[in-house]
Amino acid sequence: MMLFHRSKKLPLSAFSSIFSNVKIKNKFHNPFISESTRFYSVEPEEIPSGFIAGLKWKFEKHETVPFTNRTRFILPTISFERNRGQEEFEEIKKGFEGRTLDSTHPDCVRVSTIVDKIIDALNKEVKKMRPAEEITFLRRIWLRLIRRSPPSTAHLDGLNWEVLVVRYPDVACDCYPGGKFVMSNAFFEHFGNDFEIATCITHEIAHIVARHGAERFTKTLSIMALQSLLNQSVITYFIKAFQERITRRHEMEADYIGLLLMASAGYDPRMVPKVYEKMGKFDEAKSVPTSATHPSGAKRAKALAQPKIMEEALIIYKNVKAGFVV
Ligand SMILES: [Zn+2]
Repeated sequence: MMLFHRSKKLPLSAFSSIFSNVKIKNKFHNPFISESTRFYSVEPEEIPSGFIAGLKWKFEKHETVPFTNRTRFILPTISFERNRGQEEFEEIKKGFEGRTLDSTHPDCVRVSTIVDKIIDALNKEVKKMRPAEEITFLRRIWLRLIRRSPPSTAHLDGLNWEVLVVRYPDVACDCYPGGKFVMSNAFFEHFGNDFEIATCITHEIAHIVARHGAERFTKTLSIMALQSLLNQSVITYFIKAFQERITRRHEMEADYIGLLLMASAGYDPRMVPKVYEKMGKFDEAKSVPTSATHPSGAKRAKALAQPKIMEEALIIYKNVKAGFVV
């Protein structure tokens, strides 16, 4: 069992925007989108003793990202991750007390309707990914060796998706582990049509699908393990540089997963790169310093518009439009 404590009450940072890495200082704090000023005391998860038990544990912790099939080691348990996401969501609700839109407000209904549509598509995709029968441990080892491990999707089971729209002057949106989605009302002023909103939502949900927060947390811990060998300022520098690098990669992966989810939800994927271009221009116009953690809008749009990627999304889209279910 891993315990996770904050050694002191930390300022809450903003829920992040896909447009910007600018945090709303001293307001919110995301457990996994880390900031160099945060400190944790962590008791490592108990590693089972015995070779077979240890091997099994390691295999269980080695997960495959749905859609991209990238493998990586993930330390936090699903329940731990969900609990932290729930806590953060509650903190946001508390921080915005009196400044949240009622669930019957048209903007809230609109976002909820889009989220429902995307979650419905996600659930269908996840169902297709699941093996028809349970895979034995030995077979799992074999599949791993030949790089055919099935995607890890248990963290998406039974999520209670919730949507919160807050009155906030900056464009911002985020999704927390456990299925908690938050968006600022300013979002609608700049990215007002359903397609743009859906693009943002799919991207944020893609971070949850890929467990990016838990992965960053795991990798940060591995750097912190070097703490006894290096001094604090060197560790802090490495953590910052490492997190920026990995965040940029995660953004691209979330863009790709989001694109496929858009297609699966019946949105024309050919329009998605245009939204990322618009996001990039928006950041430039506002002089938002995103380059450390986010690739430019043009780069993201170009990556998604690659023929191989777009064709993959288009096949899904055309099947959905034709009412064809695999
Ligand atoms: Zn993102």
